[in-house]
Amino acid sequence: MKRILILGSTGSIGVSTLDIVREFKDQFSIAGLTIDKNIDLLIEQIDEFKPDAVAVRDRKKADELRKIVGSKCNVFEGEEGIIELSASLDYDILLSSMVGFAGLAPTIEGIKRKKRIALANKETLVAAGELVTSLCEKYGAEMLPVDSEHSAIFQCLIGEEKKNVDKLILTASGGPFLNKGKEELKGVTIADALNHPNWKMGSKITIDSATMMNKGLEVIEAHWLFNLPKERIDVVVHPQSVIHSMVAFIDGSIKAQISTPDMKLPILYALSYPERLEYKKIVTNFSDIGTLSFQKPDAEKFECLKLAYDVMEAGGTAPCILNAANEIAVHYFLEGKISFNKIPELISYALDTIENHKSPNLETIFECNRITRECLNKKFN
Ligand code: MG
Repeated sequence: MKRILILGSTGSIGVSTLDIVREFKDQFSIAGLTIDKNIDLLIEQIDEFKPDAVAVRDRKKADELRKIVGSKCNVFEGEEGIIELSASLDYDILLSSMVGFAGLAPTIEGIKRKKRIALANKETLVAAGELVTSLCEKYGAEMLPVDSEHSAIFQCLIGEEKKNVDKLILTASGGPFLNKGKEELKGVTIADALNHPNWKMGSKITIDSATMMNKGLEVIEAHWLFNLPKERIDVVVHPQSVIHSMVAFIDGSIKAQISTPDMKLPILYALSYPERLEYKKIVTNFSDIGTLSFQKPDAEKFECLKLAYDVMEAGGTAPCILNAANEIAVHYFLEGKISFNKIPELISYALDTIENHKSPNLETIFECNRITRECLNKKFN
């Protein structure tokens, strides 16, 4: 029986993970849950999964929750509470699925304790990839991707030698604006951008998919997970999202991992690896799918994707600046304060304005994240 701590249990990955735990009660149990502020859903999760402890970032909501659950469950609070839970609770797998940079510190606590990290929070590797991968090596912690593209690549690489890998090919749905012209992007609404064709996800990642920043972040994530340079990580638009990604080998052979799009599959694999568990709910019927199509991503229209490749070239804290600026830009877009096409503009502004530090330590990364947010927030307050 594996005990799981879920960081972000009321988000879309958290809820899907609990669906898996419900299906495989004899394999997995819940040690702890952490959330931002949705205590109504957390109360239901506590009743059903009986965690030893939970953490709520919003202190007022944590207080409310304590009054409701009483002695049934230990309630930690604030960002420190989430970190403390990750650093002290008894668990085997840390499912890291918080949104954004906030996931970094609690994930590092899990790494230090040599836990299996099931990583859905790609921002952890974008902002601090060099540091996080070297910590995993130092402590011997195992990091398994939950992101569907990276899970696909991980699966394609099993049984293969690294010297035989030519390229990674990440597939991208292209998001809701695949067939719009660059000029048309100026006028798109928040509702348009939130209307993803294939995946039902949280608002931050859905906007990232619409700008294709999500794919940019994933290229950086792939670089750190699989230790390949950006020149050997390609992106191809594949609107059906049936091929989750591919690996090309030096002899010209290509392996792909394929299924109906459902995040439960990569989650289950990250929890059960190296085993596979029998799960009959994800059915892939090729004659129903009919056609698979592919096209080149439009780098001129999707400027965010190009920015992500640029920060990989720049190195140092540039990816951390990109990540923080993107989080702020998406936040202001969702608040209706900026138009959709301003998102890459704000990120470029941050990258031009804020100094890049080479080989940053953890402190430098936290400082860089803070400065970038402050720099952009100033433009709006
Ligand atoms: Mg993905």
